[in-house]
Order: sequence, then C-alpha cells, then structure tokens
Amino acid sequence: MIKGFIGTSLVDYPGRISSVVFTYGCNFRCPFCYNIDLVLPERYKKLKNLPESWVIEEIKRRKGFIKGVVITGGEPTLWGKKLIRFVEEIRIETGLPVKLDTNGSQPELVKSLVEDRLIDFWAVDFKTSPARYFELEGDFRLVEETFKVLKEVADQVEIRITLYPPLLTEEDLEEMVPYLSWFKRIALQKFVPEHTLKQEALGPVNPSFYHKVAEFLRERLPEVSLIKRF
Ligand code: SF4
Repeated sequence: MIKGFIGTSLVDYPGRISSVVFTYGCNFRCPFCYNIDLVLPERYKKLKNLPESWVIEEIKRRKGFIKGVVITGGEPTLWGKKLIRFVEEIRIETGLPVKLDTNGSQPELVKSLVEDRLIDFWAVDFKTSPARYFELEGDFRLVEETFKVLKEVADQVEIRITLYPPLLTEEDLEEMVPYLSWFKRIALQKFVPEHTLKQEALGPVNPSFYHKVAEFLRERLPEVSLIKRF
C-alpha cells in the first residue's frame, strides 16, 4: 500500500508539522498530476514497498516533534479496508491526528471514515466542472456523493483546486460554485508544469490567473476562506 514516507513536513497539514505517507495507485488521470511515479503502474512497480509496521515505527519515533500524520497518494481511498485499519493503527499507536487527501471517488469509504471519526482533516480535490470529469477518467457522481458526506463535517474540510487553466474556464468555475458553497475553506494551488502526466506544452501559468480565479470565487462565495497554497 505504501511507497513513500517523509518524516517531517511543514506544508502538508495546515498549521501542523506532520509526517507524510504516500500510497500508490490512482483511478484518475489528471493532466496536471505530478505524482506520476505513484500513479502509473509501470512506474510504481519499480518502487520499493514500505511495510505499514515500519511506517508506524517511524511516526512513533518522531512523536514528540510532529503533530499530525498526512496520508496522500496516488489515491489512498482505493485501499479500502486496509486504509481504515492503517488509520486505526496510527491513532492507537501514536494518538496523532490524521489528515487524508482524496480525489473523492470512494464515497462509501469516506462515509465509514467520517462515521468512525477516524480522520481529523480532509483535503479533497475539485478538479473541473462536473461535466468534464470524464476527461480525467473520473466519475463526478461519486465525487458529488463524497461532497455530500463531507458537507456534514465542513469544518474539517479543505477543497483544493489546482490552477490549471484548461480545466478551469469561467464556465467550469460557474458550475463548481454551487458545490463549493457547501464548504468553508478553499485552497488554490499552483500548477507545476514539470513531469506531469500529460506531457504538454503548457508552460508556467501567469500569476494573473490566480487573481482572476480568486476574484471570481470571492465575488460568489464571500463567506468562504480562500487560501493561496503556493
Ligand atoms: S492528481 Fe491526484 S487524482 Fe489526479 S491522477 Fe494525480 S494522484 Fe490521481
């Protein structure tokens, strides 16, 4: 399940120093994805598996210093019950809060994790308008179900939007606004045009695009906190 581990990160869990666990495999193919080593089977097969027990011990060793654990990927929720058991173990063994990053494609698993209060903070991607999720090989109906589940714990959720202009036209953003209004916190993150899944000629995005998107969302969602994540 695990192919990567960072002992100490200052940027992955808002407000907390954390350890970060990387699971492998993903059911989406976002053109802007830069985690291709964890997404493409021909790449992740070459990476060493890290035993869960080893990762837990590494987290325990840092317990006095780190204040949380982040599980990211790839797409961690694809690991189903194995992920649930791993989160339970982190909580029992370390007592640390856990943040989970997800693309929102496994609503049933998210529901179980919410009901069992196993996750303290959620970061959920919102990649484009619902009608364009097929371009990422995703199914927005599942993401919508996840949003509905997480709406009930909106205080613990950050919705992340990657500033990738081809998937964020004004029409796309307009279609995303009704869902964004369910939440309290939106993070706008930079698109990094290096080693991405779709090797295309899209260079660095002009910083004015951030201002354009931020202004658009501020006008329509004045109650929501907008965070610049870069
Ligand atoms: S950006 Fe996230 S959801 Fe998209 S392909 Fe990469 S790991 Fe999967």
